[in-house]
Amino acid sequence: MDFRKLMEAGLPEDRLALVDMAARIASEEGVPLYLVGGAVRDLLLGRPTEDLDLVVEGDAETLAAVIAKRMSGDVVSRSQFATVKLKVRGSSLDMVTARNESYARPGALPQIAHGTMREDLARRDFTINAMAYPLHLGSNANLLDPHGGQGDLRHGLVRVLHDGSFVDDATRIMRAVRYEQRLGFALEERTESLLRRDLPMLDTISGDRLRRELLLWLQEERRLKILARADTLGVMAAIHPALAGAGASAWEAVGGGGHTSDAEVCLALLVRSLSRTDAEAIIERLRMLPGWAAVVRDTVDLRERLSELVGASESPSRLYESLAPFDPAAVRGWSLAAPDAGVREALALYIDKLRHVKPLLSGRDLMQLGVPQGPAVGAMLVRLRTAKLEGAAEGRSQESDLVRDWLAEEGRISPGATD
Ligand code: ATP
Repeated sequence: MDFRKLMEAGLPEDRLALVDMAARIASEEGVPLYLVGGAVRDLLLGRPTEDLDLVVEGDAETLAAVIAKRMSGDVVSRSQFATVKLKVRGSSLDMVTARNESYARPGALPQIAHGTMREDLARRDFTINAMAYPLHLGSNANLLDPHGGQGDLRHGLVRVLHDGSFVDDATRIMRAVRYEQRLGFALEERTESLLRRDLPMLDTISGDRLRRELLLWLQEERRLKILARADTLGVMAAIHPALAGAGASAWEAVGGGGHTSDAEVCLALLVRSLSRTDAEAIIERLRMLPGWAAVVRDTVDLRERLSELVGASESPSRLYESLAPFDPAAVRGWSLAAPDAGVREALALYIDKLRHVKPLLSGRDLMQLGVPQGPAVGAMLVRLRTAKLEGAAEGRSQESDLVRDWLAEEGRISPGATD
């Protein structure tokens, strides 16, 4: 395996050029510089790779500053862990100082000290993410793979580096499921039993970290498959007991067609059977931000209203009024999962068509037609939208005619007046 060739084949030209420049400068400065983690994994798999993470055996900030100076780039400091982003002519690289980590207690953020590349690899989550390519050594370098990552890539296995891995950091439980499903891999046998054993350790993880991992799940292409798999492994129930079975049910709602739906719709599918009390508990446990909290609450509340929607497509304006208060992701979720086919259709009609219906005339147009400035303008726009929803006004001129008729009825202008 010639990793250099994989880099040439897999990286866009500008990024490869930037990596090569960084490598040359590192080598001149006598500072070891490695490509690590996801990029190495993805290049070995022949998958597109997004972020390039570089590890410096030395001081990342100092090396990044030297490279930036030589290449007229910028260094942006990113976090408390000596992580910097190097930007040169539209391309960027993340650089971090090699570190040695220890965990004071389960779930705590790690205590960090400078370390060697090997120590840095030893603190990582899975063997497939624990390989490094020494860029400073030039084109004949060998991949550093002390944990057998290449073998696990070949066999399609997600494997932790040691038995205490999930205890040290239980977010790795959620990461394991994500990589397994993304790559179409399996959990290595021992890893799966450790994962099951350590499920209670998810209680040590803060709501913010859990929510971020859930977001990463929901951003994956196979998000629904991830939820289903997490359920089978007991991960959903470990996140919150009320979520037991919810992942499998979200997956089944779309008939196993796991590529559908965006992240928030997936969230709606996941929470749709919760009681209000459990929904609130989960919002709190995951410290959800207002956007997600609204999706959860509206999904649960809309469930109580579904029966009213049988036959609702017959009156589009009433359907609109019923659904407009709800978050679109909640409506979309039920348009996939409502038990009644007619209700699913009504919800889909609202999502695909009705909610986009809007008068062509603006408030200003209405005032020119004689609608008095103030709340009457808003009220007239709503009335116009209702008429449009019922198919009573198509183009601008029909809308104007309607408004004139209404004003005439109200005695505001004489019938037949034109602008
Ligand atoms: P992705 O394609 O999902 O971005 P990635 O491997 O780049 O994959 P990141 O979350 O960006 O993932 O993390 C970069 C690297 O840092 C990982 O490859 C892994 O080696 C390490 N890492 C990230 N999170 C953890 C963790 N919780 N425990 C141990 N190592 C981690």
